[in-house]
Amino acid sequence: MPTYDYCCDSCLYKFEHFQSMQDDPLSTCPECGESVRRLLTGGSGIIFKGSGFYVTDNRKSGKKPEAPKADPPPATD
Ligand SMILES: [Zn+2]
Repeated sequence: MPTYDYCCDSCLYKFEHFQSMQDDPLSTCPECGESVRRLLTGGSGIIFKGSGFYVTDNRKSGKKPEAPKADPPPATD
């Protein structure tokens, strides 16, 4: 379910609203009742689709994954 950002042209109140794609967009400001417009934000929610996680993975990929029970390090001294 996407979150939409709205901004009121009249009182400049900004708010977010969860709604499904099928719902009509809000048209009135909950603060002053004037008309609001929906902001197109490129979507913080869309980042969830995975790229953020993959970036983290790539950064780690050079390292060995840390196993929960690691072997004791060889005593080379
Ligand atoms: Zn308003």
